[in-house]
Amino acid sequence: MSVITRFAPSPTGLLHGGNYRTAVFAYLFARQQKGHFILRIEDTDKARSKPEYEANILESLQWLGIDWDSFARQSDRLAQHQAAVKRLIDSDHAYLSHETSAEGKESDLIRFRNPGGVITFDDLVRGPINTDVTDLGDFIIARNIDEPLFHLAVVVDDGEMSVTHIVRGDDHIANTPRQILIQRALGFTEPRYAHLPIVLGPDRAKLSKRRGAKALTEYRDAGYLPESMLNFLALIGWNPGTEQEIFSKDQLVEAFNFSGIQHHGAIFNEEKLRWFNREYLLRMTTDDFSTYTMPVLKEALTERLPALAFSHAETSMKEGAAAGGITDMDATIAQKLLPVIRERISTSNDLRTMVGEGELDYYFKKPILDVTKIPFKGGSPTDTVKHLQHVKETFVKSSQDQFKDPENIKSLIWDYATEIGRGAVLWPLRFALTGAERSPDPFTVISIIGLTETLARIKVAHNLLEASGLST
Ligand code: GLU
Repeated sequence: MSVITRFAPSPTGLLHGGNYRTAVFAYLFARQQKGHFILRIEDTDKARSKPEYEANILESLQWLGIDWDSFARQSDRLAQHQAAVKRLIDSDHAYLSHETSAEGKESDLIRFRNPGGVITFDDLVRGPINTDVTDLGDFIIARNIDEPLFHLAVVVDDGEMSVTHIVRGDDHIANTPRQILIQRALGFTEPRYAHLPIVLGPDRAKLSKRRGAKALTEYRDAGYLPESMLNFLALIGWNPGTEQEIFSKDQLVEAFNFSGIQHHGAIFNEEKLRWFNREYLLRMTTDDFSTYTMPVLKEALTERLPALAFSHAETSMKEGAAAGGITDMDATIAQKLLPVIRERISTSNDLRTMVGEGELDYYFKKPILDVTKIPFKGGSPTDTVKHLQHVKETFVKSSQDQFKDPENIKSLIWDYATEIGRGAVLWPLRFALTGAERSPDPFTVISIIGLTETLARIKVAHNLLEASGLST
């Protein structure tokens, strides 16, 4: 018998990561068993179900790479649900009960004739679960003959779709005995159940939209990669039994098992998700990383650049910047910046923040220098001028193609810096180039902004020191 699983979300809101974790497990198992995965939208709650939520579910699953083999919408199956109610009444498993509510409202409820006793099922996560159903009494399965309710609809759909494994949140454990009773009365084969432990938020309370859990699509929009999200979700409450953390989709399909699912709640840890995303970014090819980064970098820079008095020695880009666009020169620098960016971000949103806070400004415009900070820690301004002068002369004597690679640039002045004192030489150089207390090393910066701009910036620092009267 081939395995059939399903994900059966209710489109009553934007679903969060915990909801999709259920989809991931049901999906992985189906794929591993070369079975069939159904997406079934459970929209029986007409008042709360909305088409845009359904659309968001489809979009989220597609983004995650969870493809379904068949699709069903519960509301399209009303006729089947009604027929099942009728069958239950005809076989005397259910009956029409004319009742008056406390508010005096009269209705013809359909009640299930509960035989009572103990219902046992062997949960794939928790083992055998026994429930005495006697106290449930004759529970309601339809509001009237035309309006079947949730449990009836779920049982009929799972039965008629021949679902073999019901993977769902453990908030449904209490529903299971009731559903098994209906299932038996309708003559369906009993599926296996896997009730997944709850997913908790950072506050250790159940992850929920009300408590600020984000919709999955918000993570997509913040620059999370679907591969890292899938990997992250699969490891919430599931332990592969090894130290391995990075899993491709195929590896997850192969490794997944119900026995690795823990019994207690598992936390949706956003820091861990960031870690996964960073790991995936670090593993990307240069081309893929460029494709991932460039649109965001361009957009963020275009927003920031017009505010800058753009002046780059190698080209006259004032017009480009004033027009708010990115020039070819900027684009070249942006390409060269990719390794620096890759070192520092976990998501493309991080990049947006970096640009927004001006942390990349000095790659695209001359920094404004605080002259007192050019000399290394209390070093002499006069000596500093001398060192800058030496570095400049060494650079001028070297050929252009020595300036592409940071290691090469380093080799040009390393001996001198070692002899004089690295701080005394490299700090002023780095500061002249960036005007920042912290930045990548000067060789990396030079390899990105180029020789001409480097010389121009050294000159600015040099002149400032001289004009300040600090150096004599
Ligand atoms: N529609 C139910 C929910 O969203 C799931 C029902 C089930 O998986 O059996 O919680």
